[in-house]
Amino acid sequence: MEASVHRLITSPFLGQYLVLRPGEGRGIGIPESRYEELRAAVADNRPAPLWLREAAAQAWQTVLPDSGLREVVLVRERSSYGYAKASWEINLGCDHDCGFCYLGEKRFEGLQWDDKVRLLTMLRDAGVLWLQITGGEALIDREFAAAYECATRLGMMIQISTNGSQLYKPRLQELFAGLRPYRLTVSLYGATGATYDSVTRNRGAFDRFTRGLDASREARLPVRLNIVVAEENAHEVDAMVRLAEDRWGFPYQVFTNMSPTINGEANPLASQAKKYMRARRVFNGCNAGHTFFHVDPHGVASICKIGRDPSVNLMAEGLAALPQLGSIAESLQLRTGGCSGCTKVGTCRTCRPLAKLYQEAGDNRSLYCQHGGYGS
Ligand code: SF4
Ligand code: SF4
Repeated sequence: MEASVHRLITSPFLGQYLVLRPGEGRGIGIPESRYEELRAAVADNRPAPLWLREAAAQAWQTVLPDSGLREVVLVRERSSYGYAKASWEINLGCDHDCGFCYLGEKRFEGLQWDDKVRLLTMLRDAGVLWLQITGGEALIDREFAAAYECATRLGMMIQISTNGSQLYKPRLQELFAGLRPYRLTVSLYGATGATYDSVTRNRGAFDRFTRGLDASREARLPVRLNIVVAEENAHEVDAMVRLAEDRWGFPYQVFTNMSPTINGEANPLASQAKKYMRARRVFNGCNAGHTFFHVDPHGVASICKIGRDPSVNLMAEGLAALPQLGSIAESLQLRTGGCSGCTKVGTCRTCRPLAKLYQEAGDNRSLYCQHGGYGS
């Protein structure tokens, strides 16, 4: 990381105030008065107050310099839009071709550089503090490193979701060593070359993947593994868990339920490992469109990755159009559980956007809403 990148961020966050350190998932809650104190201290370039020095030392073992705070703390201003989190598909293109991919057709398309910067600046101005950069495969975008650095400099805390195929490359290890994401979420698709390469339809992929994960472990990157279980690799679940625990020691989650593609195509459902199908949690409402949203590679914002319709084109309409997501979410009754008139209200395990995809895909199982009412 270049010396001029801030060491700390102070920011509003959903009615609270935080001090954060880029690259660290844990933050410190502070009262509004201390946020204002820091804001004034940065404006006057005064040194860090004692409480901040002590808090930074305790939370992150960081010794703050004696110099003025302007180069040390980045102040995120309050945003009237009030969003806190977003996800951004920098590009849908991917170097793998998994049969269960929920993205369907993965076209390698995205914004030109100037528009990427414009979009990231809009996300900052919308109040986004926690940003997930995803794809497709985010790390194969030629402008990933520049976009990642730009988002960090704008004061967003970055999580990267990746298939891990590029992590063996020294230039990426150098990038993350200098500018740590607070989390690197890496999908795992098999425990042997035969299975992994077959699932990803990419010869030699397992070898590159394991080299990348070994390097990430060496560099102590904050990796969290998503173990993706499908019919093709279900026989290696235990071996994948052992890789996560014994070889790398990374925390992990196991994902077993396949979803239709974002366009409502059924293809991924054929990869469902039946034995591992789990009942989803009962849907109790969600804040999609109100506190978080999703942006696709063209700068089109939607309430979340699943519910992409209706949407708002930020590049054409500008940030002022973003609050429409709140009304879109309301129209889907996400905060009340949705589906008025449906007898499953209260026990339904699927939000309406996800139910719509299952319905479009022609799937008809009992784990989710059977109500035909979405959009009807
Ligand atoms: S690695 Fe991920 S994005 Fe790429 S094809 Fe597989 S599931 Fe889809
Ligand atoms: S898929 Fe459903 S529960 Fe998940 S974020 Fe979107 S609306 Fe909310």
